[in-house]
Amino acid sequence: SNKRARSPGHDTKSTEPNVHKQVAEHYNARPDVGVEKRKESTIFRLKSFNNWLKSVLIGRYARPRDKVLDVGVGKGGDLLKWSKAKIQYFVGCDIASKSIEQAQERYRTMRNPPFEAHFHAMDCYSEPISKVVSPDIVFDMVSMQFCLHYSFETEAKARMMLHNVTSQLKPGGVFIGTIPDAYWIVKKLKSESDEGLQIGNSIYSIRFERRDSFEKFGAKYWFHLEDAIDDCPEYLVHFPTFQSLAEEYGLELIYNKKFHQVYEEASQELDFNQLLYRMNVISEDGHLSADEWEAANIYLAFAFRKRQ
Ligand code: SAM
Repeated sequence: SNKRARSPGHDTKSTEPNVHKQVAEHYNARPDVGVEKRKESTIFRLKSFNNWLKSVLIGRYARPRDKVLDVGVGKGGDLLKWSKAKIQYFVGCDIASKSIEQAQERYRTMRNPPFEAHFHAMDCYSEPISKVVSPDIVFDMVSMQFCLHYSFETEAKARMMLHNVTSQLKPGGVFIGTIPDAYWIVKKLKSESDEGLQIGNSIYSIRFERRDSFEKFGAKYWFHLEDAIDDCPEYLVHFPTFQSLAEEYGLELIYNKKFHQVYEEASQELDFNQLLYRMNVISEDGHLSADEWEAANIYLAFAFRKRQ
């Protein structure tokens, strides 16, 4: 794998301008392998679980005929979920132009998509989304799955991200997403390794350059997830900072749960329980390994509502 350009020794500052390029290059370099190949992945169950979890979040908050903005849409892996939610209109944005092309292709080959969709390659943390979306459209929902933490490189980027979310949402509209849980990560770092800079197991590792005094923005770590993310610079999202910043932009927190907790609750509900089997999270020949289950809990799910 290509770790050359990403060696941590090369950039110890948190605000170097090329980090967003590294992120885009990283995601552009990952091929869209299709369902059959995905089944061979060592983290097939974990990927299925993350997809199930997003389906739960979408199922809880999306309404038929919604207009949805997906920021950090990637290769469009959630298009089918939005289709099942019977939304009416979809816009997907991502900094990785190849991913955007793949998302477009995925939409084009969908059978009877019930919604109209548009895709834009852009840096959503440095530019206003109003550059690409018509001012006549107000969205019922904004979704940011596994991507918001990249904006916590700087306060300016986090603010542009929140500006983009809130300026596109209607009053009463919902903003959903998934991010790594900084509290869990730092707690684990402090409890597991005496002087170490790294936590992880057989399928993931999180490596820091320093151990103490994490800044509110630019608290960088290197994330590796077997068969998914090579060694990508990411940033801790200090949740109280995120929440109070979101408040400034008129967004009120209505949901905040660790993935394990989402699982415990949603798996009690018949529909979501059946979906666990349909999405191959659980099947006759197995479920998540202990290491995958631990990696699943790196993340939390959130929802905010824009004030009326
Ligand atoms: N949301 C998709 C999903 O759940 O499958 C993709 C998640 S992927 C882990 C993170 C995505 O965030 C990548 O597609 C990456 O290109 C995107 N991203 C990172 N920085 C971005 C930025 N500044 N503007 C837009 N997208 C960005």
